[in-house]
Amino acid sequence: MPDAIVIGAGVMGSSIAYELQKSGMETLVLDKGDSVGGGSTSASSAVIRFNYSTHAGVTAAWESRHRWLSWAEHLGLDENHKEPLAKFHKTGMLFLEPPEFPRSIFLDLLDEFNIPYDSYSAEELSEKFPSLNLGRFWPPKLPDDENFFNDSNGNLNGWITPDAGFIDDPQLAANNLMDAAKRHGALLNLHAQVKSVLIENERVSGVELQNGTEIKAPVVVNAAGPWSSMLNRIANVESEMKIKTNPMRQEVHAAEAPNNFNFDSGAPLLTDLDLGYYAVPKMGETFYVGGVEPDCDPLEWVENPDEVSLNPTIQRFEAQVWRLARRVPDLGIPTRPLGIAGVYDVTPDWVPIYDKTSLKGFYVAIGTSGNQFKNAPLVGEIMKEIIEACENNHDHDSEPLKISCSHTGLTLDLGAFSRNREEFSTTGSVLG
Ligand SMILES: Cc1cc2nc3c(=O)[nH]c(=O)nc-3n(C[C@H](O)[C@H](O)[C@H](O)COP(=O)(O)OP(=O)(O)OC[C@H]3O[C@@H](n4cnc5c(N)ncnc54)[C@H](O)[C@@H]3O)c2cc1C
Repeated sequence: MPDAIVIGAGVMGSSIAYELQKSGMETLVLDKGDSVGGGSTSASSAVIRFNYSTHAGVTAAWESRHRWLSWAEHLGLDENHKEPLAKFHKTGMLFLEPPEFPRSIFLDLLDEFNIPYDSYSAEELSEKFPSLNLGRFWPPKLPDDENFFNDSNGNLNGWITPDAGFIDDPQLAANNLMDAAKRHGALLNLHAQVKSVLIENERVSGVELQNGTEIKAPVVVNAAGPWSSMLNRIANVESEMKIKTNPMRQEVHAAEAPNNFNFDSGAPLLTDLDLGYYAVPKMGETFYVGGVEPDCDPLEWVENPDEVSLNPTIQRFEAQVWRLARRVPDLGIPTRPLGIAGVYDVTPDWVPIYDKTSLKGFYVAIGTSGNQFKNAPLVGEIMKEIIEACENNHDHDSEPLKISCSHTGLTLDLGAFSRNREEFSTTGSVLG
């Protein structure tokens, strides 16, 4: 009998399995799919950035960045290893501010943590990025708005966090973590869908699979990504959670950068709240463009992630790629949508839940709200600490744990990720 079952072999479940198994808990990972990281992880833009609107958000992202930088070491591999590894590409991130943007939301926190950034005036930005049209188009609009193609009005300021970047292959990152867990002895069953959660003497005692197999374990972790709320309902823990999770469909589209675009030194990640998109300069000459939930864009809430169409739509393609084309006038716009769809697991404040639940032994690493891939290397440790403490009768609800981050020395208050927190006042978008 395993000491712990982790439901979900995405980047979170894999990281949790690695840390639990390393700490001595025999861990079994179950996934209903046919691959590791094949769920929402596979659709991730995998942006690594540090501008969050909460203290805990910045702490976790900055610590995790150091873990991505020393990825082989994080996985316990020596310098002679032959494993194909996911790679962190440092590009820097250019944040373009809409008019009246309260920049202190982000910059005060970057200052507090000594995270480098450089502020630029409109003139300096135009000089630095001649391929970009840095005019103001605010507010963001959909392409069918009669004002979508209006000329810009004034110019934008912005700031760059030079240490930001992206991971080139998020699914490979999940596999790296799962392989590391397996090297320590963790087990993985694919094609294993959890149908119900077993309860004995008022605590979890295991799970039952779709095929009727029962697997006993004293600890079960819900790391089911956008399917998390379905599992919480099955385990009957959702009703006592103040913060709940809901799946939301998203698309990310590809467009070719202009020939003269210099990807080596001149193509940072773009977070553009003026037009309402983010863009990741990936794979040499292609931008991947996602949305940042501007007010004009409909939010696509869904009931069941399995029923979501993964085909990109013309509407989203035009909204996201044409916005980028306003900023990058020579962008190569594909003749048909070249994109993917994925599903976020969203909380009302866009902050994740890493916590215990009202069912003893049942834990959750959920609500990752389109912004937690970057924190996966730390989330395994966060969950291990919570599980260890709670299984030793610590009351994490009344006395939230604090952990010391090994690379940065920062203290992370895990109460920030409680299922029963007061909602944070955040950006109300994927920026967190
Ligand atoms: C389009 C998109 C872009 C994103 N961009 C970024 C970004 O730029 N930066 C960033 O930091 N984050 C980003 N994210 C968020 C990040 O990718 C996710 O937070 C992260 O990948 C979630 O991982 P997970 O392991 O929790 O979920 P998943 O990868 O979805 O894994 C959950 C697994 O659980 C399994 N499962 C579900 N139910 C059951 C069941 N009943 N029984 C057995 N198995 C089950 C599923 O098959 C799945 O494999 C993005 C997400 C999306 C969708």
